[in-house]
Amino acid sequence: MTTSPTDTRAEPAPRLIIDLATIQQNYRKVRDLAPGAEAGAVIKANAYGLGAMEVVPALADAGCRTFYVAHTSEGREARTALAGRPADIYVFNGFWPAELPALRDAELFPVINELAQLEQLREQAPDLPCALHFDTGMNRLGLGPEETDALIANPARLDAIDVRQIMSHLACADEPVYPLNARQLERFSRIREAFHGIPASLSNSAGILLGPDYHFDVLRPGLALFGGVPAPGYPSPFEPAVEIDAPILQIRTLRPGDTVGYGATFTADTPRRIATVAAGYADGLLRAFGNGGFGRIGETRVPILGRVSMDLIGVDVTDVDSPLTPGHPVCFLGGDIEDMADSAATISYEFLVRLGLRFHRIYKPAARRR
Ligand SMILES: *Cc1c(COP(=O)(O)O)cnc(C)c1O
Repeated sequence: MTTSPTDTRAEPAPRLIIDLATIQQNYRKVRDLAPGAEAGAVIKANAYGLGAMEVVPALADAGCRTFYVAHTSEGREARTALAGRPADIYVFNGFWPAELPALRDAELFPVINELAQLEQLREQAPDLPCALHFDTGMNRLGLGPEETDALIANPARLDAIDVRQIMSHLACADEPVYPLNARQLERFSRIREAFHGIPASLSNSAGILLGPDYHFDVLRPGLALFGGVPAPGYPSPFEPAVEIDAPILQIRTLRPGDTVGYGATFTADTPRRIATVAAGYADGLLRAFGNGGFGRIGETRVPILGRVSMDLIGVDVTDVDSPLTPGHPVCFLGGDIEDMADSAATISYEFLVRLGLRFHRIYKPAARRR
């Protein structure tokens, strides 16, 4: 099933190359950064678009034993992908009684986000292990301050419930200087005191880089594993794990005054050589990359000229020294993932999860066992 990325292409189609060994290496990096904590992995949205069926076993083989998903259906897929490897799988979006058979069947642990859900769990499935999510400032999911205080005042509400983890989520970890980080840390530390003995989890990828105070017992990285930069503008120890390689279909010369693509949004002011590349927004290369994003040929940046079409992109290859012919690959993303996100006024998360649309995916193999 794994194909070598050097295979010759059967057709001039773009490929999404996902390096499973790099994902494993990033996972080990998380562990090295927080030696006292257990490193879990967030693999919601099909492992950030990269393919849960391939990514989950690779992470398990690297030693990961705790996974987080958003939906029960994603948890079921992760359980299938694990193929018998032992792991706990938590479902962020909560406990929905209608999903109880599915949760049981795949041994998924719901994350409880409010006291009413806790009562439902007690009534319908007290044997089902769960996590408790406390909202310490995100105002998104989790027990709010009143519910948190009510539970701390009356811990008997947890009697006979198998709480395996308490968690919270940081709102601004990618901006280390924001004061909300310290406030959330303080609130979560107080909650942890109240539920002593239950493993605690606070940090996503960016939170891990905030330092040991933020690590607690279990880490929940997503983006870092897949090679995104958790806090853009700050150094990242993680390696890019995703690259697009798309073939040139045609090369042409522009004279001054010539325009490129739909809407004629780029006009050449000097003679330019442009290559038309077989990749477009149908593959997940955002239309917003037009006139701002770029690819690479070797080390040379080749700017995207004009609009991104559904199946095609024009790049400026005037500065490429090597001879180019149709079939020559142009690379996108790799180490440029955050600059590309900037060029489209978005974040790497958003286009990663959309890359799966049409790409032929190539998985560079993982190391099998740790
Ligand atoms: C998505 C998510 C994470 C992972 O975040 P990254 O920034 O990708 O590391 C962790 N915890 C929760 C609750 C999440 O929703």
